[in-house]
Amino acid sequence: MDAVEIIKVIYLFVVGICLGSFFNVVGLRISKGESIVHPPSSCPRCGHRIKGAELMPVLGYLFIGGKCRGCKTQISIKYPIFELLTGLLFIVGYYIIGWNLELIVALTFISLLIIISISDLEYMLIEDKVLIFFASVILIERLFINSGFNGLGLGTFFNYLIAGVLGFGILYLIAIIGKKAYKKDAMGGGDIKLYGIIGLVLGIRLTLFSVFLASLVGALTGGILIALNVVKRDQPIPFAPFIAIGSLIAYFYGDAILDWYYNLFIQM
Ligand SMILES: [Zn+2]
Repeated sequence: MDAVEIIKVIYLFVVGICLGSFFNVVGLRISKGESIVHPPSSCPRCGHRIKGAELMPVLGYLFIGGKCRGCKTQISIKYPIFELLTGLLFIVGYYIIGWNLELIVALTFISLLIIISISDLEYMLIEDKVLIFFASVILIERLFINSGFNGLGLGTFFNYLIAGVLGFGILYLIAIIGKKAYKKDAMGGGDIKLYGIIGLVLGIRLTLFSVFLASLVGALTGGILIALNVVKRDQPIPFAPFIAIGSLIAYFYGDAILDWYYNLFIQM
């Protein structure tokens, strides 16, 4: 790694953890109908204002030992984890995509996935305001940035646009079938709309692959959680984190995995 590369990585990490800190606020407040800028963060129990060094992402949490300075209440480890995760994913995005325009789409996409994962884990809800904001931003980005980073030749704006409609349609279909089969809502409206945006980011081929991956990750994790008795069999679990994992794997590694898979059959 040369000096320039080290600076880029540190820059992305610092921007990532700071934004991650903001995403915590967005993910937790918007679903409660609260403003994301006012009031400043404070302890929900004693009202102690979080200020100065305590506000620093990740380090602030370590600095106060994970406890509120006012009342010593344990502060959820989720906050620094999502900050760290944002920083790390920004770096991973750079390593896979490189320092080019597609990285802008990648960072936007990671930001969306972090926010909806936070709110879905906390409230089982993906807020429309968040989806509308990111759908608009990514649509505009895709108008200008649409050649992908893999040179597969599928990179046109319309490929991404069709993928958006397709992503929405497939999830809508799964929701209808799920409702018929289980007589209850298997898929939230937020998940369906989210897949429209995922299509815009991934393009047709990877969108299809990501549905498969998200279902696989969801089924495996759900199975393990039920086996470990962490969740009950018919207890609803937030699906957005699985969609986030599946679509990120598809975005970053999908082409490599699919090419490897096709080659297996060509050689046989
Ligand atoms: Zn407190």
